[in-house]
Amino acid sequence: MGRKGLAVVAIGGNSLIKDPQHQTVPDQFATACETAWHIAGMIEEGWDVVITHGNGPQVGFILLRSELARHVLHPVPLDSCGADTQGAIGYMLQQCLYNAFLKKGMKKQAVTVVTQVVVDRNDPAFQNPTKPIGPFMSKEEALKRKEEEGWDVMEDAGRGWRRVVPSPYPLEIVELDAIKSLVDQGFVVIAVGGGGIPVIRLDDGSLKGVEAVIDKDLASSLLAVGIKADLFLISTAVEKVALNYKKPNQVWLDRMTLEEAKRYYDEGHFPPGSMGPKIKAIISYLEQGGKEAIITSPENITRALRGETGTHIVP
Ligand code: ADP
Ligand code: MG
Repeated sequence: MGRKGLAVVAIGGNSLIKDPQHQTVPDQFATACETAWHIAGMIEEGWDVVITHGNGPQVGFILLRSELARHVLHPVPLDSCGADTQGAIGYMLQQCLYNAFLKKGMKKQAVTVVTQVVVDRNDPAFQNPTKPIGPFMSKEEALKRKEEEGWDVMEDAGRGWRRVVPSPYPLEIVELDAIKSLVDQGFVVIAVGGGGIPVIRLDDGSLKGVEAVIDKDLASSLLAVGIKADLFLISTAVEKVALNYKKPNQVWLDRMTLEEAKRYYDEGHFPPGSMGPKIKAIISYLEQGGKEAIITSPENITRALRGETGTHIVP
């Protein structure tokens, strides 16, 4: 394997969409290529890399299109939204990496694996859907869709009503062996996009897609453990993790141990839906033999790997 080791690099929403004014596909390409350039630099320095990514806004766009066209065309089920976005975002990253390798004179190839992730059909999340998806609706519309389509709906932070779906815990990556083989053969692999396509296993062992969303950080952690990655790097919109984030007594962290991470998590420094799942994912990775995790922003990946910035979490 590579000289530096094997890394899972999980890229967040800011690696595809910078702000609401830059959401088009060409905008997403430009943004994705910036992150891909930094990842190519990491590969140039000797890392083997598997990339995972989020897909929240992109699934939102597909659902909105599907909604607007629903008197003309069939709706797109959520598992298909996952597959569609893994393909489209995977293509974007493959092309960005191709061009980055070309420019750097590197002989490398990136490939995307459409990835299914098994969840427990008895996961308590199915009894308590909490993840808002798709467009906002009026209360009347929301209740009508609940009645007609069996949707779970909820008011989202005073901004309107939305459909909510379960966010079950990822248990098993169906295509893990394929991912491992590709890594062993020197490919840069893009996998478990959007947390993976959620599937359940039926009594006869067969798989079936479900209307749910898996957290991409937790799925990335499962992947990092599954391929025995030496490093789990989470790239997001902040250079470092903070205690008392956005409060007057905020402190940026250069380093924390697993025990400290757990304590700070319990003390409520990392909210659900943003930093919380990242820290949870890292705790799970380190508890299962992971050696090091880093949280930083895309433009700081190279410096963070040199130990100059980012938050480093160690056992
Ligand atoms: P991603 O799309 O990368 O998953 P999220 O928005 O889900 O990004 O989570 C990252 C965000 O979490 C940061 O950009 C920051 O605004 C927020 N955040 C919340 N708590 C903290 C914290 N303690 N330290 C740093 N950032 C935090
Ligand atoms: Mg997130």
